[in-house]
Amino acid sequence: MVAIETSKLFHNLAPEELRGLVGMVETRHYPAEATVFRAGDPGDGLYLIGEGTVQIAAAVTAEQMKVLTRLGPGDFFGEMAVLDHEPRSATVRAETEVTAFFVPRAAFWQMMERSPGLATSMVREFSLRMRDFNRHYLQEVLQAERLSVVGCFARSIVHDFKNPLAIISFASEMAAAQASTPDERQIAHGRIHRQVNRLSNMINELLEFTRGSQTANVLALTDYGTFVQQTLEEIRPEIAEKSIGLSCENPPPAVALLLDPHRLIHVFLNLIHNAVDAMPNGGKITLRFLVGDREIATEIEDTGPGIAPEVAARLFEPFATHGKTHGTGLGLSICKRIIEDHRGRLHTRTEPGRGAIFSFALPRPS
Ligand code: ADP
Repeated sequence: MVAIETSKLFHNLAPEELRGLVGMVETRHYPAEATVFRAGDPGDGLYLIGEGTVQIAAAVTAEQMKVLTRLGPGDFFGEMAVLDHEPRSATVRAETEVTAFFVPRAAFWQMMERSPGLATSMVREFSLRMRDFNRHYLQEVLQAERLSVVGCFARSIVHDFKNPLAIISFASEMAAAQASTPDERQIAHGRIHRQVNRLSNMINELLEFTRGSQTANVLALTDYGTFVQQTLEEIRPEIAEKSIGLSCENPPPAVALLLDPHRLIHVFLNLIHNAVDAMPNGGKITLRFLVGDREIATEIEDTGPGIAPEVAARLFEPFATHGKTHGTGLGLSICKRIIEDHRGRLHTRTEPGRGAIFSFALPRPS
């Protein structure tokens, strides 16, 4: 049992003051699980723990309590309400059997006025406790932030998985339809195969991302024209279902570029799906290709309402989303990273009376 005289709060008191204090103190016993006081109770005094441990808890919601800290022999609690004359801000419960010394508020204030040593100890202990609380709080905030990023990330995974799954579902229906010809079944098989590969690539990319290491960027000389044609073929059936036209103003150039097709396909899919999302009542998506000496620029334009001003300045930042119920705001930031990994640039421009125009330039190998 810790004696009241040895408490860090009272060790500065003169012997006669200590004797006076011991005379005013009331010893209280609590069985395990008993409530010492509840939030909202009047702050009638301060407690010093002689034996046992208590839990200090605060209400987070109407039903949920959160344990803020645990205190043991020699520690004190209940000082805040005594100092500021406000009701108790937390609930204290005995964790084990507890013996505590109760110092009534009036007695405590009398001593504070008489003994500058007690006031100093009180301020020091109070400040140490606040620092400790700040440290604890900061850790919790960081942890909550991490969890919220993980939550957003999980939503984005679901979002990115939905597109290949939609294509697989469409192709499997085509493969199973009685009226399908062997050729159509072969096409459906090919589509399913490609989408399964895409999903597996995405999983690998996500695993790399969560490990915190850079995804290996495998750039190989690839015919850009063929790559674009194949990508558009994959996406066309899904788009046609939504009364949206997809066309190229000029053919994609048959130029060899250094590409990672498994990653670059995400840029096309993300930009085209965003355009589809922006045109719920149908519309047109037009691709055009500008062939320069040093780079090939690809533009994807839609006939939707254009980029909302609310999101325009943060468009390529992670988690910037606007006007979508299931938007995660990761799509464009991922596109930007993929294009930059190809040493290219992605940007958007607006022109009055036109929808959104996204443009990315990929360098031609020297
Ligand atoms: P998400 O689609 O999950 O919201 P993105 O990063 O892909 O995340 O897009 C961010 C925001 O940019 C979207 O929420 C939308 O407001 C806007 N946006 C993107 N593409 C278009 C588009 N083609 N037309 C209009 N707004 C768009």
